[in-house]
Amino acid sequence: MLGIENAQRLAELRAAVRLYQSRYGDLAGMIDLAKANSAMSSRQYRLDKLAAEHQRIKSEMASLEAEVERIERWVEFCLEDVIARAKADHAEAWSPTPVLGYRLWAVGDDGLHGVKMIWPSRSLTATCLSRGGDQEIPHTDGRCGRLGCGIYVAKTVGPLYTEFDVSSIGNLALGLVALAGKVVEHDDGYRGAEATVVALGASFGEHLLLTSDPEKLDDVFDDPTLILKERTVETEGERLLEMEMFVEEEARRATPWTLETNNE
Ligand SMILES: [Zn+2]
Repeated sequence: MLGIENAQRLAELRAAVRLYQSRYGDLAGMIDLAKANSAMSSRQYRLDKLAAEHQRIKSEMASLEAEVERIERWVEFCLEDVIARAKADHAEAWSPTPVLGYRLWAVGDDGLHGVKMIWPSRSLTATCLSRGGDQEIPHTDGRCGRLGCGIYVAKTVGPLYTEFDVSSIGNLALGLVALAGKVVEHDDGYRGAEATVVALGASFGEHLLLTSDPEKLDDVFDDPTLILKERTVETEGERLLEMEMFVEEEARRATPWTLETNNE
């Protein structure tokens, strides 16, 4: 497109040519001028057509962009819906705050023995024997056994005392365990990716340790014979009862900040 100055200049020149034509009739160079005029108007015509098309494309793009924005919100809603339904169907939650449950250990000189292994410390990260470590532990697709991987904790103490023949285990520890990361809920308990013992009742012979002191917990997982420095409680039944009452009381104390998690 010509600038305004150019257009002005051309208009002045055209007026001058018309003046000379009216004054002198046929002028030399008019054929070349006609060719140039025609070349310009054919280009101008194409330019106008393209400009109109450009305008049409621009407005079509703008309306498509607006539609894409609306559809993005719809897609976002669908994605969140799928995730929410999957979590609800599989009773799974990523817990920003810990989910609490109970576990038993057999107490030995060498450490606190879980069902499958000695716990090297009061904190444990789950691995999957069949599929190795990944972000999805504990698995929920049934490929790593009926119960599946992850660290299992019971919702209440009672079933643990009946499920395991506690008198045959001998020295026993009962812990309140906080699960973090991915947590899968079952009827009687939870499976989690990360577990930390936050309170422990542990017997060694007639000695009984009850503690929720993090340092003391670290020490006893490191060396269970420290329990032998604790007070004695005469019968096994009394020791079990004291452990149960202690960890349940610790769980109640922590309940205000775990309720939110359980409601998720
Ligand atoms: Zn697994």
